[in-house]
Amino acid sequence: MSDTALAQSPTAREIPSLQNYVGGAWRAVTAPETLDDRNPATGELIGRIPLSDHDDIDAAVWAARAALPAWRATSPMKRARALFRLRDVLEAHRDELAGLVTRDMGKTFDDAYAEVGRGIESVEAATAIPHLLKGENLEGVARGVDVEMVHQPVGVVAAITPFNFPAMIPLWFLPFAIGAGNTFILKPSEQDPLTSQRLMELIDGIEEIPAGVVNLVHGARDAVNALLDHPGIDAISFVGSAATARYVHTRAAENGKRVQALGGAKNSMVIMPDANPKLLVDGVLGSSFGAAGQRCLAGSVAVLVGTPEEQDAAIEAIVGAAKQLKTGDGADPATDVCPVITPQNRERLEQEIARAIADGAELVLDGRIGGGAGGAELAPTIIDGAPEDSRVLREELFGPVLALKRVPDLQTAIVWTNQSRYGNSAVIFTSSGEAAREFRFGIEAGMVGVNIGVAAPVAWFPFAGWKASMDGDLHANGTDAIEFYTRKKVVTERWN
Ligand code: NAD
Repeated sequence: MSDTALAQSPTAREIPSLQNYVGGAWRAVTAPETLDDRNPATGELIGRIPLSDHDDIDAAVWAARAALPAWRATSPMKRARALFRLRDVLEAHRDELAGLVTRDMGKTFDDAYAEVGRGIESVEAATAIPHLLKGENLEGVARGVDVEMVHQPVGVVAAITPFNFPAMIPLWFLPFAIGAGNTFILKPSEQDPLTSQRLMELIDGIEEIPAGVVNLVHGARDAVNALLDHPGIDAISFVGSAATARYVHTRAAENGKRVQALGGAKNSMVIMPDANPKLLVDGVLGSSFGAAGQRCLAGSVAVLVGTPEEQDAAIEAIVGAAKQLKTGDGADPATDVCPVITPQNRERLEQEIARAIADGAELVLDGRIGGGAGGAELAPTIIDGAPEDSRVLREELFGPVLALKRVPDLQTAIVWTNQSRYGNSAVIFTSSGEAAREFRFGIEAGMVGVNIGVAAPVAWFPFAGWKASMDGDLHANGTDAIEFYTRKKVVTERWN
């Protein structure tokens, strides 16, 4: 076990200062500034995060470049075996990694355990790399002339990831990137990087992944800019808020890099009068309040279709069940709704709620209880009657706040939802195949759920949104990941 931060037990007195993992070695960041990393449930200081500057990024890039020739020459089968080892190591440490996610990001242990499982699924999907990398050929395009298309790695790739899935999102990218023969640099969220640090410690113990193939750099805006500007980086995978995604996409593209930038969301849940009541209530509550609404797939508007009586009945069921949810520390098995990531975010959400009320909306359920031990708790909050252009209906708040929108029919629900500038996800609850079909055909979103509150990623399929929820063309995961992390080369041959 390394001597870095996470080798220490959670009860260790000393506050760990994290280090970068570069070229197979732990390396102190040269820049002196650090950020405090706190457990959102307790406020406890659990780490000091260094802020890498250009020199720190430069070291990681050249380590990744140095490792590239040998790694891309390693057979795809050997690279797949390295991924099998990674899969087994992650599975063996699944409890520990989930515990770290809970401690650093705040979500409940069950949710964190599921998240780590989805990360492992991405590794499993990428173990098919020898098959996924196969190209195409066509014999005899002219007399004695054959054509073949091969996929070759892009080169050195970097992933810049958000706070809300500190285990899963790095693992959306890492296995496909290195499986395809690239070398990789991860810049995790500066709000909860402990899981990434532990991931690197585990990777450090896998001899099938040579030094320099996977690297870790800590930091915030300056570190991101250094990655976006560095000539030694060929492609950028980004996940975060819409504004940052647009910025990252523009700057990386200007620098000639390939880039995929997955951004924020405002997801509608369309509720038909014929919806199965249990599926509807469980689905809406899990989607809106699970992980305290801090998922890019969180449903934050319930679009209620039907007569006022039908709408009232659905609202009554949702509000009644939401009142039963317990808000608290994600480490407590009784907790349903975890704290948000920081007390500052809670404060921001309170301001958004106050603004909606000032705009004329009605607070159907008020979650503004005390902030809890860490000052970051906000209980489920439900808002009805917000004016059309209000932020609670149209902008991502990223907290346990659900807005209600009443519409007479499905067509209006689809048109209203499609007016959003976002298109990450949309779901419908209905017992009608015809309604479901109309919805899935007409809705403008990358991830669509039918009687499912969270249309979560499945690693063998591409994952991303549409419109302002995604800048770039190729999604994460699935065969899109292979397209993104490889370049096509066409060879035309004649052997007379
Ligand atoms: P964020 O945009 O604040 O941060 C994401 C990453 O960008 C971090 O690594 C951060 O260091 C970096 N960053 C932040 N501001 C920057 C700036 N000005 N310049 C350069 N780099 C910067 O996002 P977050 O708060 O960590 O994550 C939540 C957001 O991510 C939500 O909007 C959520 O919807 C979105 N998200 C989207 C998806 C998706 O698949 N579309 C998945 C998860 C999260």
